[in-house]
Amino acid sequence: MVAPADSLVSELASIVGADAVKAGDLDRYLYGGDAGVAHGDVSVVVLPKTVRQVAAIVRSAIAHGVAIVPRGAGTGLAGGTVPEGPAILLVTTRMNQIDIDARNQTAWVGPGVINLDLTNHVASLGLHFAPDPSSQAACTIGGNVANNSGGPHCLAEGSTVNHILAVEFVTAQGEIVVAGSGAPDPPGLDVRGVMVGSEGTLGVITRILVKLLPNPPAIRTLLMAFPEVGGAAGTVSDVIASGVVPAALEMMDRPLIRAVENFVHADLPVDAAAVLLAEVAGHEAGVDAEADLIGRLAVDNGAFQVRRAADSDERELLWKARKSAFGAIAQIAPDYYLHDTVIPRTKLVEVLDQIYEIASRRNLLVLNTIHAGDGNLHPKFAFDASDPEVVAQVKAAATEIVEVSIAAGGMLSGEHGIGLEKRDLMHLVFSPVDLDAQARLREAFDPDGVMNPLKVLPEGSRCFDFGRPIPEGAWV
Ligand SMILES: Cc1cc2nc3c(=O)[nH]c(=O)nc-3n(C[C@H](O)[C@H](O)[C@H](O)COP(=O)(O)OP(=O)(O)OC[C@H]3O[C@@H](n4cnc5c(N)ncnc54)[C@H](O)[C@@H]3O)c2cc1C
Repeated sequence: MVAPADSLVSELASIVGADAVKAGDLDRYLYGGDAGVAHGDVSVVVLPKTVRQVAAIVRSAIAHGVAIVPRGAGTGLAGGTVPEGPAILLVTTRMNQIDIDARNQTAWVGPGVINLDLTNHVASLGLHFAPDPSSQAACTIGGNVANNSGGPHCLAEGSTVNHILAVEFVTAQGEIVVAGSGAPDPPGLDVRGVMVGSEGTLGVITRILVKLLPNPPAIRTLLMAFPEVGGAAGTVSDVIASGVVPAALEMMDRPLIRAVENFVHADLPVDAAAVLLAEVAGHEAGVDAEADLIGRLAVDNGAFQVRRAADSDERELLWKARKSAFGAIAQIAPDYYLHDTVIPRTKLVEVLDQIYEIASRRNLLVLNTIHAGDGNLHPKFAFDASDPEVVAQVKAAATEIVEVSIAAGGMLSGEHGIGLEKRDLMHLVFSPVDLDAQARLREAFDPDGVMNPLKVLPEGSRCFDFGRPIPEGAWV
């Protein structure tokens, strides 16, 4: 690791205070990764509290010829916040103010606010923030916006982009811009929309105007167990075809059911080939009828168990089981690789069979959670990264899964972003002209490549390296 220039460290300390600058080797190492497999060298970590401090940090980065890499909680899985080359890691966790406008059911929040903290903060008002990534106890709203994150309950409500009214950000030139507003149809070009999903490449998000939704008066939660994966997949298609839009519709396969049950003890049916966790939300009069219909469709598709959560404790336990996949996997192996692709719902059984075949051919253990309602697959490999041959097999299997997903009519990623992980697979779904359009947008915001360089756009594209030498040991 190359030590940061003293002049840069002291300049940053003069902006944010010495306690908010981390330049020691251990801190720089600890902040060098996210929750995925990539790890990079951080020049210096800085934790601003205000937008003006962020703007001053960006200007300082420009003056010192280093890049800015924004970071929230570092729960990303695609290496989006892993630096490639000399970079200030700008961590937003101290920017965690929440200003609620209860009457308009909105809030301005700092990018470092933890997703679940926001929902807990507004719970007494009967409101919640709809996007609920499984990492919601740790990830930040800034990270959610930058990755346009989803979550189990985004099936009915839509992903993060549908819940963001305005974004304040600091540009690659160190200026402060506000895009969007609380107005229903704000005039001008939709820069807010461009910032959502921009993965830190267009600016540093410093404040976000979010929509808050009223909590539904009634919820019903069902767990359905199937002897064959095909039964679960058939139920998903039949539910969607019936016109019912569940708040959530999640699937787990047998290896994962067993791992989770051993971890959470939620009385999951460990003999099932697959379970579906479905939730319907709305008015008391409607939810029972919808839950009954979903249960009937499951039985028609061969379900041997349909269990309805008796109360909120049981509901919470079932969701804890679904959201504890990571903890459960840690019992099996020291490392994991969590994948993210999307396929058409109708291809679920076919693609899952291919995933099992890929894993078995490469002697790997794969466990699957699926946002089944929208076809978003999350195969997880549990492995030991101390063996480089196993790591190579995991990476090769991951690429194969992308290829079979795309061949089935799917997409590279459903919600985790592109970052470093999938950057060089972008050409599988985008033509050179498509990629050039994205590169021109990036260039318009950041002509010198200050913001999160070497991310998202693949090698060979216009803004790949902005003509700078690629650092040694970089991902490429
Ligand atoms: C156990 C687990 C479960 C998960 N479940 C889900 C899930 O259900 N759905 C889902 O979508 N994702 C999920 N994720 C992935 C991850 O949690 C999300 O992508 C999350 O939104 C990242 O937030 P973060 O604060 O950790 O961002 P980070 O990892 O810190 O950063 C992610 C990206 O956002 C950029 N960024 C962060 N803050 C800013 C900012 N202020 N301005 C500009 N750019 C910024 C970074 O540069 C990086 O490119 C999961 C991850 C884990 C580990």
